[in-house]
Amino acid sequence: MTSQCSHAAVEGSAGTGATHPARPRASAGAITITINHEWCKGCYICVSVCPRDVLAIDESTWTGRFHPVIVAHAENCALCRHCELLCPDLAIEVLAEA
Ligand code: SF4
Ligand code: SF4
Repeated sequence: MTSQCSHAAVEGSAGTGATHPARPRASAGAITITINHEWCKGCYICVSVCPRDVLAIDESTWTGRFHPVIVAHAENCALCRHCELLCPDLAIEVLAEA
């Protein structure tokens, strides 16, 4: 099972919540963030390294082992790919249209 969230990115710094002003968007196209819940083990590294609070822990859901990670604010994604690069289980994919 995977969950996916995408949005049309807006050039420049946009959105609410935590920001990362030193990192402009790398694309003006749509961004799609996919979490593979079969591979995720709930370490929450992705949540802790995301500079814009795009990812969150879904405290209302229990997988039997942990609360799953969700894409809470895709519109704030800076395309830094920290989540994708640091996930030890390769469970996150961040795609951006050109
Ligand atoms: S870093 Fe990867 S394995 Fe850890 S919670 Fe995030 S998606 Fe799951
Ligand atoms: S690429 Fe990942 S770590 Fe970077 S802002 Fe987007 S969701 Fe957060």
